[in-house]
Amino acid sequence: MSEYVPGYRFPLTACPKPPKGEALIERRGKRNTIRTNEKKEKDIVRAKDKVCRWPHCENCRDFKPRLEVAHMEPKGAGGDHGVRTRADLMILLDYLTHQGAKGLDAGERFIEPLTERGTRGPCAFYVKVYSETKPGEWSWHCVGVERSAGVLDPTITERVIGDPIVSIITASRTT
Ligand SMILES: [Zn+2]
Repeated sequence: MSEYVPGYRFPLTACPKPPKGEALIERRGKRNTIRTNEKKEKDIVRAKDKVCRWPHCENCRDFKPRLEVAHMEPKGAGGDHGVRTRADLMILLDYLTHQGAKGLDAGERFIEPLTERGTRGPCAFYVKVYSETKPGEWSWHCVGVERSAGVLDPTITERVIGDPIVSIITASRTT
């Protein structure tokens, strides 16, 4: 046994373990920030759209389902980390038009934003129409084109995805 040396300190803290829980707190903090931001962006969509944006919506007319804020692209399984939860990438739809068997998430409907304002500007709306003669074949059929967000343009009855949109952009900027 060695002798006591005055002033000697056992080097207990030479290599301290990092405190635990910091990563957890940081993760939770980030998650809360993302949730708060998602809620804020969704509130913007609800406030601006107010009603289901689908033109002449048959689901709303027949079933009056609850309204939901729909992402234009479905969120990935791991969450979107807040990237896609932006008001200009979301739109207000009823539950059936959003998630039903003939809905947007099922790939049976398509919404095309017509300006750089995304869903906060005018959009065109399409449904998948299956060929009656050729099994498995289908095409997009336009069911409505807006002149500004939530306002249909009755003069445009036909449209193909990706058609030039100059006149619509001009109209949306003046309304
Ligand atoms: Zn609807």
